[in-house]
Amino acid sequence: MDVYVNKAHCTGCSHCFDVCPVAVFEMRDIDKDPDGKANPPYINADTAPADKQWTGVNDPKYYDKWNNDVQKCHDHYKKKSVAINGSACILCQACLIECEGECITITDDQGQAYQSIYK
Ligand code: SF4
Ligand code: SF4
Repeated sequence: MDVYVNKAHCTGCSHCFDVCPVAVFEMRDIDKDPDGKANPPYINADTAPADKQWTGVNDPKYYDKWNNDVQKCHDHYKKKSVAINGSACILCQACLIECEGECITITDDQGQAYQSIYK
């Protein structure tokens, strides 16, 4: 199983992190990594293709939809989800129905792709 997050669409809501039963996701800071190394490799550590990696710019179509006072109170906007353990995915699909950014892609071992469906 392969899992990745389209970083420009991710709102940092942490729903995927909260619901995944096998700890596929890790929420990572968009500004720094724990070791003081360059941030992009740390936040782009999953298998997202180049055009879906974090470059420092959010996609307003997805991001601004949730950019309201309630969300800001939860301090979500400083982090992105990184699918660091995609091979552990059991395709329960819990993350796919909870993803605010509609930005999770899972591909099973037969090549079938599954996308977030939250609206
Ligand atoms: S579908 Fe996979 S990545 Fe998503 S919550 Fe379930 S086990 Fe975790
Ligand atoms: S559920 Fe979606 S939008 Fe929310 S943190 Fe996870 S990948 Fe990002």
